Amino acid sequence: MGRNKTNTSRDFFTYHKTENKSICNICDTSMIGNHAANLERHLKRHHSNEFKTVQQKKKIKLNIRDEATPSTSGSSGSQETLDKYVKSEFLKVKLNKEIVLKACIELITVNGCSFEMLEYSGFKKILNPIVNAIGNHFSVNSENIKLLIPETAVKIVSEISTALEKKVISLKIDIATRLNRSILGINAQLIIGGRINLFTLGMTELKDKHTGIYIKNMVEKVLEKYNIDIQQIYSITTDNGANMN
Ligand SMILES: [Zn+2]
Repeated sequence: MGRNKTNTSRDFFTYHKTENKSICNICDTSMIGNHAANLERHLKRHHSNEFKTVQQKKKIKLNIRDEATPSTSGSSGSQETLDKYVKSEFLKVKLNKEIVLKACIELITVNGCSFEMLEYSGFKKILNPIVNAIGNHFSVNSENIKLLIPETAVKIVSEISTALEKKVISLKIDIATRLNRSILGINAQLIIGGRINLFTLGMTELKDKHTGIYIKNMVEKVLEKYNIDIQQIYSITTDNGANMN
């Protein structure tokens, strides 16, 4: 009974117990149950390289079993040989859960990709083997990344607040207008350990007329978010816009 469970073709599928289906890690095909013979047939038809790997590993396993039977001491060494063989078939990459999540957040926030990107089949083909390797119910999809973005933003805001706490800072304020949208950029500069550090406090969209008072209110709002007191501000640098003065 237990013999089938260790069939190497299972390495290429994720079995969902509740729905009783196996998903191919390579092409996302869904199959009912997890019979080794069915999984192997799918590999044989659609993924000949992986099928070959499974066949080779089967052969090695048989050899190891044959070798291991006469002497009881050799079995752990044989397992090592198998592990070595299995591992050499795949890439060993420097990745972990945190890096994967950070990269996905970066795709959306820094690179400007849509959440849809996380569901693209091509992206999934790269991501699924990593997600499976991490295991432990780890998953990456547009839903959980959506939840992580505000969480990460709150963390960054609190890190910057801590860095700016009770420090004298200089503000740099500018408005960029493109295609009828205006963004107010607020940066804080301060010296830490003899070097100038720059923090972006906010890129706020301006929805009202850019009057001096409106801009002042927006700046104050952003400063409040970071717990920055007006008295901490040493200077403010802007361009010569009338509203800025
Ligand atoms: Zn497949």
